[in-house]
Amino acid sequence: MTPERAVALRAEVDLSAIRHNVRHLAGRGAIMGVVKADGYGHGAVPVARVLVEEGVAWLAVATVPEAVELREAGIETRVLVLAAPLEPYLPQYEAWGLDAVVSSAEVADAVIARAPFVPVHVKIDTGMHRLGVAPEAGAETVRRLTEAGVKVAALWTHLATADGDDAGFALEQVRRFDGVLRDLGDDAPPLVHIANGPAHVRLPPLTSRPALVRLGGVLYGLDSDRAMASDTVDLRPAMRLVSRVVHLQTVPPGESVSYGRTWTAERPTRVATLAVGYADGIPRSLSNRGEVGLRGARYPIAGRVCMDMTMVALGDPEGPGAEVCLGDEAVLFGPGGPSAEEAAAAAGTLSYELTTGLAGRVPRVVSGG
Ligand SMILES: *Cc1c(COP(=O)(O)O)cnc(C)c1O
Repeated sequence: MTPERAVALRAEVDLSAIRHNVRHLAGRGAIMGVVKADGYGHGAVPVARVLVEEGVAWLAVATVPEAVELREAGIETRVLVLAAPLEPYLPQYEAWGLDAVVSSAEVADAVIARAPFVPVHVKIDTGMHRLGVAPEAGAETVRRLTEAGVKVAALWTHLATADGDDAGFALEQVRRFDGVLRDLGDDAPPLVHIANGPAHVRLPPLTSRPALVRLGGVLYGLDSDRAMASDTVDLRPAMRLVSRVVHLQTVPPGESVSYGRTWTAERPTRVATLAVGYADGIPRSLSNRGEVGLRGARYPIAGRVCMDMTMVALGDPEGPGAEVCLGDEAVLFGPGGPSAEEAAAAAGTLSYELTTGLAGRVPRVVSGG
């Protein structure tokens, strides 16, 4: 048994899929590659290296420590920290050469007190109501920063409905954003950014100005919205979560499986135990709902997902499921099993939550760099 064979659970990350996706998505606006949450669970540093090799000139992360991880790995690209900066964190932006978000009048004041500070991206709250300056205060905020000597690199906003059915509200948000640009006239920053991945793929171009598109999930081949037309967009999933069969048994009729006895065998049933559980990031809500891929077929999860193990019903002890052996690979999501989108739908969540929720104890096996 090679050391890798000894790992009963691993998340395989295929960087060539990310390379394919970024090439496929290039061309409609310069890409800001979003590698927050450890590159949506795929590994921020290896993903960022691929993006930089492919000519991506901007990266975005959620927090300062995530940005520092990129800098410490030698990545010198412009990095925007998407979070609202609290005043005590501002020196870190200067120390590491990070772009900052101005998300309120208070942040503008704190930035002006440190002028010229670092380049800032003024965020307009056009209807998400999470972060940002109100549209009415947008132009004044930009002018105040510029007059204080702070470089305003971009004006930007975030859409609430790009991955849903309500494209109409997205266009209303763009209209509010355009109002700020009109107020600014010649004082408008040189760059804007509006679209996230779903907006980039689903909506027509949102601006005629020089723009960045903030692409996250689509880079990893993740679809936040199962309605996203995959026949028009050729995205490849970059992650596969693979476990192994560590135990096999035939459960007699009337006997139950796992905590709470929520699954009972109606007839003699072959049951496999997999070395993966909710502590690895598999949602417990997949209990009696999810499926896994084994030897090219799909089998249902039987009973509750446990912390470290999950049972799967293989069917009749004389049927095709009887071929499953100890040590066989079982795909929780990705090629060879349900897609991350199918697994997420069964769990009542979205694929992003599956990949970002993988626990630190799950080894990442990265290939295709
Ligand atoms: C996470 C994030 C993105 C990327 O969104 P995707 O749906 O993954 O493309 C873009 N912009 C902001 C502000 C974000 O927080």
